[in-house]
Amino acid sequence: MVRKISMLIILIMIISGCGENAMEKKFRTFVAEHVEKIKPLMKQWNLNYWNASLTGKKEDFDKTAEFELNIRTIYSDTGNFTFIKQLKESDQIKNPLLKRHLDLLYNEYLRNQIEPDILKQIVEKSTAVEKKFNVFRGKIGNREITDNEIKEILKKETDSTKRRDAWLASKQVGKEVAGDLIELIKLRNQSAQKLGFENYYLMSLSLAEQDIDELVRIFNELADLTDKPFVTLKAELDSILADKYGIGPEGMMPWHYHDPFFQEGPMVYEVNLDKYFENQNVKELAQRFYEGIDLTVEDILERSDLYEKEGKNPHAYCISIDRLEDVRILANIKNDEYWMETMLHELGHAVYDKYIDGGLPFLLREPSHIFTTEAIAMFFGRLSRNAYWLQNMVGLSNDERDKIANVVQRNLRLRQLIFARWCQVMFHFEQELYKNPDQDLNTLWWELVEKYQQVKRPRERTEPDWAAKIHFTSSPAYYHNYMLGELLASQLHAYIVKNIFKLDADVGISYVNEKTVGAYLKNRIFSVGTKYPWNEMIRRATGEYLTPKYFVDQFVVQ
Ligand SMILES: [Zn+2]
Repeated sequence: MVRKISMLIILIMIISGCGENAMEKKFRTFVAEHVEKIKPLMKQWNLNYWNASLTGKKEDFDKTAEFELNIRTIYSDTGNFTFIKQLKESDQIKNPLLKRHLDLLYNEYLRNQIEPDILKQIVEKSTAVEKKFNVFRGKIGNREITDNEIKEILKKETDSTKRRDAWLASKQVGKEVAGDLIELIKLRNQSAQKLGFENYYLMSLSLAEQDIDELVRIFNELADLTDKPFVTLKAELDSILADKYGIGPEGMMPWHYHDPFFQEGPMVYEVNLDKYFENQNVKELAQRFYEGIDLTVEDILERSDLYEKEGKNPHAYCISIDRLEDVRILANIKNDEYWMETMLHELGHAVYDKYIDGGLPFLLREPSHIFTTEAIAMFFGRLSRNAYWLQNMVGLSNDERDKIANVVQRNLRLRQLIFARWCQVMFHFEQELYKNPDQDLNTLWWELVEKYQQVKRPRERTEPDWAAKIHFTSSPAYYHNYMLGELLASQLHAYIVKNIFKLDADVGISYVNEKTVGAYLKNRIFSVGTKYPWNEMIRRATGEYLTPKYFVDQFVVQ
């Protein structure tokens, strides 16, 4: 099979080689040589990464880092970067597939052109800040308190003073790291400015093929569409919570929500779904579901490592080892709702990787964007909370299904709406953080929190509460992708309901045994890999560019 494919590629190359200009010929040779170098290294890197996360051994992590460094060294070559840059500027690469290669390679090389000296400082500084996050413990009075204790208090405590103390303790790390973090932001900006960008945030977006104006447009539309519904929902939520604390709704402060940033929906419409999975086999349920929509995962599960082991990474992830058939997931399955969602999620990533057309050139055999694969994972992960899916998969009675459907829907709406407003704060703040790290960030943070989350700033509070969010340190210019993933998951859902099922509404849809869904995703989303930039891929698959309106239809409008 593989040999046939490569013969086919050679054939296509010979055919399409006719009529090529000199630059195109030169670039085609460059790509072929580049892939020959990079392909085995990537496979080794992936295998070592996989191995390290199973053993947890230092020597395995060291080997992984070595392969990563080898790959980075290739992409940091200045001579090759100059060649690619000149090609790009010459505008001589006309063949669409070659041009796509040029854009992807240009970004990958550019990302690795940061001056070694600045890069070293960035790595050291971010490691130092992350370390502070790891070792710092907030205090209540003189007593140290762990993050888990803080979480516990914010979930259960009804005494406002105790809640306030725990919340304040959760913010102390902000003051501890803010100075270093601002220095880190400036170093990152310096690295970007040397490469011709205004700041690091804009550079990162550009390297990820994301246009700031386009993102701002999407986020502003989402803000407009959620403004009013959020005010209503928040009032309802505040009155339920305020009652529990024996205060009036006007007394609600940041410490009255169930997590330190009000990024999750407080547990007011909770329903425990774990009991439906207790006597089930989560792995088999996931397998049966995917088989039912014609996305075969048996081979993936066979290569995967699914249960707890000593030394093993306790979380879950999906990895494509060779950008062909060898796709695996790491998980630590228990038979509960959390792992049901996680398995559906990770297998979503896995089927995306698996069904990318193996005949595409190596460099295009990746998901269109990090958030498009996240969207597919979310699309499937959401099903563990779909009452009709539960009914079909674990056999609920109609009564039981209807009983949970209403609560689950309210819970989902709460979670999604609150998360959407929180993402606005992160998105707008991070832009400003890089635009001018010397401005009054503490005030800016609270202005955004008040505007989008409608959470009151405590009187005269001027601490760097924003710096307590670790993502500014560990995953810069990334947070918006979580929201874009949710938006795309909803857009795909709406497209399938309307155009494949030919229905006006999504009531009762579970996707169970709907083979047309698998076929649609395979043919229109997965198979094309990263042949097109993400928004072009979305337009081809759904007839529209990415839009927040379907997320709003699904979760906001009542
Ligand atoms: Zn994921």
